[in-house]
Amino acid sequence: MENNETNDVLVYRLGAGCDLSDIEEGKIYQGKVQGFANFGMFVQMNDRIKGLVHKSNIKAEHKERDAILVRVRQIRPNGNIDLEEVQIQVYQVQSLDRKSTTVRIADLLSRLGKTVAIEGEIAQIKQTSGPTIFTIVDESGTQNAAAFIEAGVRAYPEAELDNVIRVVGEVMMRNNQLQIEVDSLTVLSEDEAAAVKVRIELALEARAEPPEIPFLVPSEVMERLRPEMRKLAKIIRKAVFMSQPIILRHHADADGICSAVAIEQAVVSLIRESGGDFDADYYMFKRAPSKAPFYEIEDITRDLDFSLKDHIRFGQKMPLVILTDNGSTEEDEPAYKIASVYDIPFVVIDHHHPDGTIDKYLKAHVNPYHVGGDFGITAGMLGTEVARLINPKIEPVIRHLPAVAGVGDRSEAPERALFLGLVAGQYSEQACKDIALALDYEQFWLRFNDGREIVKDILNITGNPDRHAKLIALLVEGANTMIEDQMSACLPHVVSRVLKNDANLFLIDVEIHAYKFTFPPPGKTSGEVHDRLCRKHAGEPVVTIGFGPDFAVLRSRGVLMNIPRMVRELRVEIPGGGISGGGHLVVGSIKFVEGMRNVVLEALIEKIALTSVQK
Ligand code: MN
Repeated sequence: MENNETNDVLVYRLGAGCDLSDIEEGKIYQGKVQGFANFGMFVQMNDRIKGLVHKSNIKAEHKERDAILVRVRQIRPNGNIDLEEVQIQVYQVQSLDRKSTTVRIADLLSRLGKTVAIEGEIAQIKQTSGPTIFTIVDESGTQNAAAFIEAGVRAYPEAELDNVIRVVGEVMMRNNQLQIEVDSLTVLSEDEAAAVKVRIELALEARAEPPEIPFLVPSEVMERLRPEMRKLAKIIRKAVFMSQPIILRHHADADGICSAVAIEQAVVSLIRESGGDFDADYYMFKRAPSKAPFYEIEDITRDLDFSLKDHIRFGQKMPLVILTDNGSTEEDEPAYKIASVYDIPFVVIDHHHPDGTIDKYLKAHVNPYHVGGDFGITAGMLGTEVARLINPKIEPVIRHLPAVAGVGDRSEAPERALFLGLVAGQYSEQACKDIALALDYEQFWLRFNDGREIVKDILNITGNPDRHAKLIALLVEGANTMIEDQMSACLPHVVSRVLKNDANLFLIDVEIHAYKFTFPPPGKTSGEVHDRLCRKHAGEPVVTIGFGPDFAVLRSRGVLMNIPRMVRELRVEIPGGGISGGGHLVVGSIKFVEGMRNVVLEALIEKIALTSVQK
């Protein structure tokens, strides 16, 4: 009896992974017309194999991309394939798939020189003047794959960011870096992709879990924050593993810088460990100070502008934004609203008094006020502990940062002394104060720049203690000289009052009685005036207001104010005052319109007079 099926002619379809060794002379294959020459036409049998049908062996008229059946006449020693066209109506198709074993990215080094297959998600597509570089992420790591069609021409244009693909290619070393030279790249079907995505997601979930380690010092408040700190650290680890760019924004003072640099060290080292490009830590991570003590529209506008350009030019994902020592108040809301249009995720580490209204914009928010603590647990302390959860290996270079942050922000929490004690062998309290002052002074000259490498020297984390010492000595001397000049100009103009609640109020017009556009700026000038008056009035409640035409900076000791609340009340009570501001409960700032200055200041002073004092 005849079996029809078995008598049908067999035609083979070559899978993406197949190479020359998978085809045999005499057999028939499916192909696609690729182009024409005088002597015949080129037929592609898969992405990497093509052959020539000599014009004498062409049976019909064709145009480019026509499907065609070809028989292999001969495979020449140089790899050239001679084909002939066949025209048959009834045949059976059999798929040939190279079982090139799928390798995990983390295991590629052991396959150097071999052809392998990897499956993963496209995290970045960068077109160079040579090949197209696909950055691929799987459950174990990140790897670049170089695909070349023609110099400067985008290879595999069908493959887009976030697609799940299968790449077959040779594992090579290029410039001391592992790379895959792509033979074929296939975008997986929806079903296949879903399976790979689940596999990556599950593995990442486990891999991103922060280590179980004790904090550097015992702290009840930080213990209560531990779950949220772990959650935040995990989001950052995941972003690194998925090659998502990270933007870190921070308050431009010593505390904010310490917090941000600790996280920078952790993130940058994790990026390097997880196998990105040698310069990945520069284009995948950006740290930038915010001038205002909150994340303002100017900040999100710059960040968005850069991210969208990188997204278009370099095929990068949209970033994760980390805010530290700012981000937790309603002043940040306008920026969050803009960011949410682009689905940009935010995480915040802050110790400013938080407004509940902003939590809907945040993926995680570490703030001591959430657990009964206060601003005494500074952003630098929290940032350093989060940094250790992101990458515990960097602890030795950042363990002194919480002490610097604590003195920089004048923390009065018990953790300040504990963190100082932790590093007492290397840094005295005075040394920490000097570093904090040097940071503030240098940031003044840096303006909007992050000063990534200079700041590392100031913080003594470049392993060059000699340079650190020289730099600190110079910066501290420069800062103190300028502070003394400023004080001798403005202290004689301080006006004092005693309020109904017995608080000493000191007023200084920093606009007309202080040097402008120099160090120390108005906020720090008022702080210095305040510190000197506090020493003079030891044990008494003191409030200092430094004001200009349209702003006032408040410092206080022993007066239980709630500046954010006072600002909110004034905004309602003085229509046309143009009032905004906030900050910490007892240290903050307020803005208003120039024509209403006296009205606003007097109303503010009345509120301060109603506040209870500590005696
Ligand atoms: Mn701070």
